[in-house]
Amino acid sequence: MHEMQPLRADLRSDTITMPTKAMREAMMNAELGDDVLGDEPTVQALQARVAEMLGKDAACFVPSGTMANQLAIRAQTEPGDEILCHPDSHIYHYESGAPAALAGCSMAFLSGDRGIFDADSIDVHIRPDDHHFPNSKLLVIENTHNRGGGVAWPMEQLESVTRRARSHGLRCHLDGARLWNAAVATGDAPGTIAAHFDTISVCFSKGLGAPAGSVVAGDAATMARVHRFRKMYGGAMRQSGLLAAACIHALDHHVDRLADDHERASRLAEAINECPGFSVELDAVQTNIVYFDVDPTRSSPLELMASLDREGVRMLDIGPRTMRAVTSLAVDDEAIEHVIQVLQSLPS
Ligand SMILES: *Cc1c(COP(=O)(O)O)cnc(C)c1O
Repeated sequence: MHEMQPLRADLRSDTITMPTKAMREAMMNAELGDDVLGDEPTVQALQARVAEMLGKDAACFVPSGTMANQLAIRAQTEPGDEILCHPDSHIYHYESGAPAALAGCSMAFLSGDRGIFDADSIDVHIRPDDHHFPNSKLLVIENTHNRGGGVAWPMEQLESVTRRARSHGLRCHLDGARLWNAAVATGDAPGTIAAHFDTISVCFSKGLGAPAGSVVAGDAATMARVHRFRKMYGGAMRQSGLLAAACIHALDHHVDRLADDHERASRLAEAINECPGFSVELDAVQTNIVYFDVDPTRSSPLELMASLDREGVRMLDIGPRTMRAVTSLAVDDEAIEHVIQVLQSLPS
C-alpha cells in the first residue's frame, strides 16, 4: 500500500469542468437584468445566438438539460400521447421518470446499436388511429448518444429517420446535450443537424465547460409554450445573465477545442484496449466518451475504481463489468499519460 495521490485525472464525466478564469471574468462583466420580467440582455443575446445558429425562430435559456428536454416534451405533447425513443435514452434513464410524471406520456422503444436506429423501426411502433391506443406524437433522438458510447448519428440516417417520422405525423426533438461534440466529430454544422428537428436542446455544462445552463430552440408557437412551462416548472430565473455569459464565452472559446477531447479519448481507448483484461469497441469511440469492459478474471469495476482512486484517477463504474471514462476541458495530455501509465502498471 502507498499514500493516496492527489487527484490527477478526473474522467468521471465532462460535467466536472470548472469555469476557467476567462469564463469567470466574462461572468463578472456580464450586463444583467431580470429575465422573468423579460429584460435580461445577456440571456437574450445567448438565446438569439443559439436560435440563429440552429436555424430556429426562438430559444429559451433553462438551468439544466433535463429541464430543456422535458419542456420540449411537455410543449409538444398532451397526457396520453406516446414518445418514440431508444431504450438507452437519457430522457428515459436519467430524468427521474419525468416524461411520465410531468407530461403524462408513455414511451415506445426503437431498437438499434449504440442508441441509433433506422427508419423502418419507427413504422413498427406507430399506433393505429383508434381510441384504444396512445397517440404516437413525438420522436426523440439523442446526438451524440451518451449510453451508446458518445457516437454521432450519420447525417443520412438522421435525415431518413426524421423524414419517416414526419410521414407518420410525428414531431421530432433532438436531445443535443452533446450536439457540439457531434458537430465537431462529423464536420456537420450544428444548424445542419438541427434542420431535421422541430425542437433541439443543447447543454453548456458538459464539454463546453460552463457551470450550468441549457437552451431549447424551436418554432415560435412551440417556444411560446416552452416559455410558459418554464415558469410553471420553476425554471425562470432572474439575473441569469451571469450564467448566460459563461455559455456565450463557451461558444466563443470551447467548441473547436472539443476535437482535443476526442483525440485524447481515442488515444486513451487504444491504450486501454491493449491492457490485458480490458476491452474497448474502438469504432464506438467517436467523441469524448470511452466505455470499456473489465474481464471477470480481473478485478471488478468497483475494485478497479478503488485502485485508480489511490493513483489519483477517477472514472465511473456504470455496470457490473463496465467502466466509463470521459475526456473534457479538465483532462490534459499529461493527465491522459498518467492514466495510461497507471492502467498499464495495474496487476493483471
Ligand atoms: C447530461 C445530459 C442531459 C441533461 O442533463 P442535466 O444534468 O439535466 O443537465 C440530457 N441528455 C443527455 C444525453 C445528457 O448526457
